[in-house]
Amino acid sequence: MSDEKQKSADRLKAYTESKELTDRMSKIKHKIMVLSGKGGVGKSTVATNIAVALALEGKQVGLLDSDFHGPSVPTLLNLEDQHPGSDGDAILPVTFSETLKVMSIGFLLPNRDDAVIWRGPMKMNVLKQLLTEVNWGELDYLIIDFPPGTGDEPLSVAQLLPSCDGAVIVTTPQNLSLNDVRKCINFCKQVNVPVLGVLENMSGLKCPNCGAVINIFKTGGGEKMAREMDVAFLGSIPIEPQIVEASDSGTPFVYHYNKTEAAKAFSQAIVPILDLDRKTAPNG
Ligand code: ADP
Repeated sequence: MSDEKQKSADRLKAYTESKELTDRMSKIKHKIMVLSGKGGVGKSTVATNIAVALALEGKQVGLLDSDFHGPSVPTLLNLEDQHPGSDGDAILPVTFSETLKVMSIGFLLPNRDDAVIWRGPMKMNVLKQLLTEVNWGELDYLIIDFPPGTGDEPLSVAQLLPSCDGAVIVTTPQNLSLNDVRKCINFCKQVNVPVLGVLENMSGLKCPNCGAVINIFKTGGGEKMAREMDVAFLGSIPIEPQIVEASDSGTPFVYHYNKTEAAKAFSQAIVPILDLDRKTAPNG
């Protein structure tokens, strides 16, 4: 093929992909990113529980786990043995419940114990494919569990999304983690995504015997940081042994332990997300 022909074939391919992506995303009312400066702060736990909490409110929800290096959503929802389907043209997400569909990079790996070496362009292609080819149908919310940090991968996902309604930033209370929150907030500004708020996870542990709160990673830093950076504070989720238990056994925490302080904090944290839908509802 001549250079000219190749260039025009490339242009056509890029146009078709971008149209497909726009069409697919136009069926989703609100796209929400869940970000964190570091791994291990509970970002996937928060993304999953936000998705489940919204689904429990009767919203149609999709949860997209785009974390290459630790796709934990299949484990968190006990979907490790599931595989996405296909309707000929598109990939069909895994159904968790009537109101929650799930897609994860983890479903695409041949063996969960394999160490996959992802090179930059490969990641970009897989991300593009996930966003373009997954047929979610009509959704109220797509919750996207982003790769941690503010490097190339989150930037690629953010740039591929035609529009994004907001970001939830997850942090733990200690300074080391909080420093990264600033970067996350600046990242959101850079990619033009409004920050819905900062959520402080692992904020204090209540002793089951005496009720005293032990602030293992300090507490209150997330709220202070949110104030300083002029973004909303979505609340604090305590360290909760039942969260670990629920995560390991793949049972959604907010569903099974809805009376706990942590589950109440999740319900509170989704209020601004629910507000997005109220604002756009025909009579909202
Ligand atoms: P990340 O996505 O930021 O890497 P994960 O969501 O995978 O983090 O969480 C890391 C670990 O911390 C998991 O074992 C999870 O169960 C646990 N965890 C998360 N939040 C809490 C919490 N509030 N209390 C207790 N354990 C938690």
